[in-house]
Amino acid sequence: MTEPLPATGQPAVLTIAGTDSSGGAGIQADLKTFTAHGCYGASVVTALTAQNTTGVQGVHPIPPDFIQQQIRSVVEDVDIRGIKTGMLFDTDVIHAIVESLSAHYRTSIPSLVVDPVCVSTSGHTLLQPDAIDSMVKELFPLATLITPNKSEAELILSLNETATPIHGLSDMLSAVKKLLECGPQAVLLKGGHVTTTLNDVESVAAINADVKIVRGGLLDENMEILQVAEQDLSQLPLVVDVLYDGTSTTLFVRPRIDSTSTHGTGCTLSAAIVCELVRGHDLVEAVRLATQYTHLGIETAEKIGSGHGPLNHLH
Ligand code: PLP
Repeated sequence: MTEPLPATGQPAVLTIAGTDSSGGAGIQADLKTFTAHGCYGASVVTALTAQNTTGVQGVHPIPPDFIQQQIRSVVEDVDIRGIKTGMLFDTDVIHAIVESLSAHYRTSIPSLVVDPVCVSTSGHTLLQPDAIDSMVKELFPLATLITPNKSEAELILSLNETATPIHGLSDMLSAVKKLLECGPQAVLLKGGHVTTTLNDVESVAAINADVKIVRGGLLDENMEILQVAEQDLSQLPLVVDVLYDGTSTTLFVRPRIDSTSTHGTGCTLSAAIVCELVRGHDLVEAVRLATQYTHLGIETAEKIGSGHGPLNHLH
């Protein structure tokens, strides 16, 4: 899947997130993804959830001082090369994490990917609404990359402006620019909930000379990635993820897979990006590899549970 590990062995990466008792999202998805990428995974739990493929039945937050104790235990002992955050639950948890990371790493924090998890697909609140402001003001400025989906981006942008609905690709291009102003080094706006066609991609590329397009494919019968020809792509609904780093914009374009096995997709994607970054890839290549990994995980998922089951964590 990725290049062989360097002689230095498995780089250690850390997830700071909530658990998912059914194993498809949160800490469990992150650790499976880290292992699949040849990284050593450490974990700091912010909240326990009782959940399955039909939804979240309960949330049991961890006291912030115990979250700090977990962070200290890990970072004082293990050489952590990259960090991702997921479910953060509330403002006190965000303060505690920012305080601990800033105290330990001072100015040289490892690559930090912030997945601004707010609400589960099933509609359960995973971040208290009044904590979004702290996430933006305190955590985003430390982030190498933030990875919001459409509704998270709309929520974050609504803090400063009246509603900013994201209907299509050109709205996504303006949204990434506004999100970058919140302080992260780069923004990946995920397009899973935005309907896009090849026409939209071509119109956006025609107007914006600095936009690069990276195409991904589907699997063939030998599990090889098949580049979808331009003329075929034009017949298909697409998913387009938009990456912006303040200089260039990259569109990751793939055919949309019609599947309900998407539980934990955001967790898996952000975990895979951290792994690819610590393995030395630049941001565009890290996102290309991670979006491809996540996409193939949806394509090869087996049915688990009676509701929205998890994607497959491929090795
Ligand atoms: N549960 C936890 C602990 C999570 O961190 C997340 C997502 O980040 C979810 C659930 C959401 O999963 P989904 O919306 O993909 O079902």
